[in-house]
Amino acid sequence: MADLYPVKADFSARARIDKNTYDTLYRESVENPDAFWGKAAQRLQWFKQPTTIKNVSYDLDDFRIKWFEDGELNASVNCLDRHLQQRGDKVALLFEPDSPDAPSRGVTYRELHERVCRLGNALRNLGVVKGDRVTIYLPMIVDAAVAMLACARIGAVHSVVFGGFAPNSIADRVIDCGSKLIITADEGLRGGKKIPLKANVDAALKLPGTTTVETVLVVRHTGGAVDMQAPRDRWFHDVVDPQPAQCEPERMNAEDPLFILYTSGSTGKPKGVLHTTGGYLLYAAYTHEAVFDLREDDIYWCTADVGWVTGHSYIVYGPLANGATSLMFEGVPNFPSTSRFWEVIDKHQVSIFYTAPTAIRALMREGDAPVKRTSRASLRLLGSVGEPINPEAWRWYYEVIGDSRCPIVDTWWQTETGGILISPLPGAVDLKPGSATLPFFGVQPALVNADGEIKDGATEGNLIIRDSWPGQMRSVYGDHQRFIDTYFRTYPGSYFTGDGCRRDDDGYYWITGRVDDVINVSGHRIGTAEVESALVSHPKVAEAAVVGFPHDIKGQGIYAYVTLIADETPSEELHRELVAWVRKEIGPIAAPDHLQWAPGLPKTRSGKIMRRILRKIAENAPDQLGDTSTLADPSVVASLVEERKVK
Ligand code: ATP
Ligand code: MG
Repeated sequence: MADLYPVKADFSARARIDKNTYDTLYRESVENPDAFWGKAAQRLQWFKQPTTIKNVSYDLDDFRIKWFEDGELNASVNCLDRHLQQRGDKVALLFEPDSPDAPSRGVTYRELHERVCRLGNALRNLGVVKGDRVTIYLPMIVDAAVAMLACARIGAVHSVVFGGFAPNSIADRVIDCGSKLIITADEGLRGGKKIPLKANVDAALKLPGTTTVETVLVVRHTGGAVDMQAPRDRWFHDVVDPQPAQCEPERMNAEDPLFILYTSGSTGKPKGVLHTTGGYLLYAAYTHEAVFDLREDDIYWCTADVGWVTGHSYIVYGPLANGATSLMFEGVPNFPSTSRFWEVIDKHQVSIFYTAPTAIRALMREGDAPVKRTSRASLRLLGSVGEPINPEAWRWYYEVIGDSRCPIVDTWWQTETGGILISPLPGAVDLKPGSATLPFFGVQPALVNADGEIKDGATEGNLIIRDSWPGQMRSVYGDHQRFIDTYFRTYPGSYFTGDGCRRDDDGYYWITGRVDDVINVSGHRIGTAEVESALVSHPKVAEAAVVGFPHDIKGQGIYAYVTLIADETPSEELHRELVAWVRKEIGPIAAPDHLQWAPGLPKTRSGKIMRRILRKIAENAPDQLGDTSTLADPSVVASLVEERKVK
């Protein structure tokens, strides 16, 4: 079959997990979760070993999710202290600055441990105690990881707010969790532009409801001028540098909170997801090792921001718990040129590279030349996360970036899931472009119809997960009822993901889009991902988003927004060509009824297409856009609304 990329024998021979091992372990993990996860828990260092492994009931009258509930540990000890003897001089975090002309720098496990301890002591001196919430609003610099781990060390619950958010969004998140302290920087740097972080915090703290914040610690990063308001504002270095380099870690129960993190806001107002210590850390570490087939000498780079869950699990907690070298990149893919990612890979000899479809599509738009002037010979594995990856983008990633040498792990998961739930293990699972393939250990996906009936075999439906896994979120912060209602009421006895999905004859899973985005054309359910992928497979199309709109005859029609590759211009002829193209690729039922040229698409700040906004534009209801606080660039929406009116 043309669209199957079998595991390569040489990769499999050296891989941590081959096909047989995957099958055996998967079976064990679902047949006897207590034994499986009890053994898996040994990869962590515990102050007190857990004796109870899993204690979960999704029954609404007797609801509980607990893992390792009598175990005690500290996440920072697991990420730092326990590596000191073997890996003290190994680089833990490799910092690559925004500008390629500024120096990059490696921070060893020993140095990171010291920095975390000093900040932990400083936080304690400032009155932060176990259970207090601390907001972190920093650029992608090493201090962001230091701040997270220092909170973990003293048992404070961190809430990282992406450095691209504006004052209102900072204030919302500070108020929601009642933070006592904020750690920020004078300014951030992205693509050569300065981001006024401290000024944004100042503006946020002028808003009502933010008075819980007693202290603002300010990292001097760019040296730009900022307002320091005594006694609230303190320079980070003044407070932290004089502290001792040892800090007693707090003994945390496995179910004590580790952090709060807000979802991306693709489908509505962001949810404050609460993760706890033991299960989360174990799951992040185990998936990181298995999915990325991690080896001791890997240089691992995940391009996400620490403001998103991908940054939490796969820049900081997973890699550091595994003693890996994790690269932190301050900049953006197109500065100073669109070769930057590939140049960074060559510069640091990156062997594992993990990014998002939005970045791949944007770079694919620029053609192969910016890639081909770099070597990328150090790469051995590629990864994707955040949205369905269109098969066309997958192939480009595979052939052009990876020179047809590196497997791609398409990892499906959510802020809520803490870690990867569906993904190929690269030494075990044959790849199909566009499919996240098979579940990770302990994960039991199922597809249900609207009535909640589980459907077997090759089929399509709403994706649910039938049992718990250790990395699962435990609550919506401050609103446990919202947690239960959102995820456990729709399909009693299961966790509802909110995503639609198809399963093929080989049992492979294909995410078809958000359940709310499914389009119903004359009684046929059409997933957004499939139509978008058909459009993107046209050589002149860079990116596409499709939504449903009310249609007199069909019930719903298909409305497509299309962004062309660089140097292509819209025309009536191309319009006709694209509609015919989709008709040929999928069938007449999926042919767009409307096609609008889009110079850009509305995206969340984490880079995901916000179809709910596009739906409102298609419906000609731009006054009902809903929560737009996570929209990356409001001007994109304004121009699409204008275009729509003209039509
Ligand atoms: P909100 O929950 O606030 O609407 P969000 O769902 O975008 O925002 P995240 O937790 O960042 O917030 O994203 C998880 C979602 O991203 C998944 O539910 C899925 O729709 C999508 N996703 C992530 N990875 C993949 C992937 N590999 N393939 C397909 N979809 C993916
Ligand atoms: Mg979501």
